[in-house]
Amino acid sequence: MRIGIIGGGVAGLAAAYDLTAQGHYAEVFEVAPFLGGQASTFPVGGGQLERAYHHLFVSDTAITDLIHELGLGDKLAWLESKVGLYHQGRIWDFSTPMDLLRFKPLSLWQRLRVGLWTLRLQRTADYRRFEDVTARDWISRHMGSKAYQVLFEPLLRGKFGDHYDQVSMTWLWGKVRLRVASRGKALQKERLGYPMGSFGEVIDTLAQRIQQQGGHVHTSARVNRVLLSSDNQDQSDESETATGLEVQLKDANPENREYDAVIATTPSYVFTRLVPPMPEEYQKLLTGVNYLSAVLMVLELDRPLTPKYWLNIADQDMPFVAIIEHTNMIDKSLYGGKHIVYISNYPDRNSDLYRMEPEDLLELFIPHLRKLNPAFDRSWVQHYHHHRVDGAQPIISKNYGQRIPPHRTPVNRLYLANTTQIFPEDRGTNYSIRMGRQIAQMVMNDTNPE
Ligand SMILES: Cc1cc2nc3c(=O)[nH]c(=O)nc-3n(C[C@H](O)[C@H](O)[C@H](O)COP(=O)(O)OP(=O)(O)OC[C@H]3O[C@@H](n4cnc5c(N)ncnc54)[C@H](O)[C@@H]3O)c2cc1C
Repeated sequence: MRIGIIGGGVAGLAAAYDLTAQGHYAEVFEVAPFLGGQASTFPVGGGQLERAYHHLFVSDTAITDLIHELGLGDKLAWLESKVGLYHQGRIWDFSTPMDLLRFKPLSLWQRLRVGLWTLRLQRTADYRRFEDVTARDWISRHMGSKAYQVLFEPLLRGKFGDHYDQVSMTWLWGKVRLRVASRGKALQKERLGYPMGSFGEVIDTLAQRIQQQGGHVHTSARVNRVLLSSDNQDQSDESETATGLEVQLKDANPENREYDAVIATTPSYVFTRLVPPMPEEYQKLLTGVNYLSAVLMVLELDRPLTPKYWLNIADQDMPFVAIIEHTNMIDKSLYGGKHIVYISNYPDRNSDLYRMEPEDLLELFIPHLRKLNPAFDRSWVQHYHHHRVDGAQPIISKNYGQRIPPHRTPVNRLYLANTTQIFPEDRGTNYSIRMGRQIAQMVMNDTNPE
């Protein structure tokens, strides 16, 4: 069987890996000049660094299994994460449940209430009871409005910007369950995983394996459209079937390639441009989801900014929502001794923050970095990098679970596998890999049923 795959992120690559391992021919087309999509890397100080901060949770078994399968298991490190919360001019520790008990901006009763309800959330296995309530309403009702404003609203704003009050409680439930799974025993500190050769090494190894197994992986290769049976005038069959792809490889003219099945891993708003309008119900599911972009400023500093790996910013006057100081978890020697700091935001594509030029954005951030460390000086910044990631975060609103498009599209042999279909967990490399492998299996079952 020949399978065309749109997108060289981890979902597309994982699907191609399993299909080629089973003796099928898979060809991956990635429009960017590099592989990895949202988890891609770029060179910094002699090492490779993710364009957007990346780590793994202990519960991320799909990706850790794959890393071991690729022979990179000994590169996977599990390291203690140092989490903090910036609130009213001070950085508070937030790594263990004890840190919550010491968090003075909330009264002792409020802290206990948060602790008790967090425990209940962790023990609740069925997410469906949270589907028709927003995180704002649920948290305010159970943990109190002060706890919501101080602890949770900044987290929601951090991930969903102005859409923070639409986010379903299911999303927050998923986050709370995940963080606990990464902590092991109740009072232990959280451990996060990182492949020490970077996510880039995992992605490159995956691509090499696909090629060794007989497949092909192309970069700078745009898919213009999915070819359908109705494109072929001789076809009398009424139901549409995917028959191939119109692709454009670097500097070449567009050409048609034939496949027995096609897997698309692009965001839904890209997918709708590659196919004619789908039947109304499916089309509504594709167009009904809204995404936020991510804007990352990556600083290479000559010294540390804060002592934290992950710092949530609970201050709406600050023009960023989180600071991830990568080298407070990963040894700076991997990056030529530079201290790596990500400044993170999830804006709409039409916002000023999204459109700003990198140098203006840096100047905007600098006075606020001094609030986190009064000694900070512009001269500490040796280099900086600016990345925009579109389609970074689908907005998970109430009853989201009922609005997910199925992987099998209304077109025969055309499959969709993108981050909007990851639920109830929050999107992540682990789940895209799990999904890519599931879709590969689905394609094999559909085309060759027992
Ligand atoms: C800021 C940020 C931080 C994150 N942090 C973490 C983390 O700590 N841990 C974690 O596990 N995950 C994290 N993630 C999420 C994780 O990176 C993604 O969930 C995962 O990489 C998505 O993989 P994917 O293959 O499903 O999609 P993508 O990576 O989006 O891949 C889709 C690919 O399709 C390509 N494409 C689009 N149109 C075309 C076309 N016409 N032709 C050819 N190719 C096309 C795109 O260029 C892209 O490479 C983070 C994401 C962001 C944005």
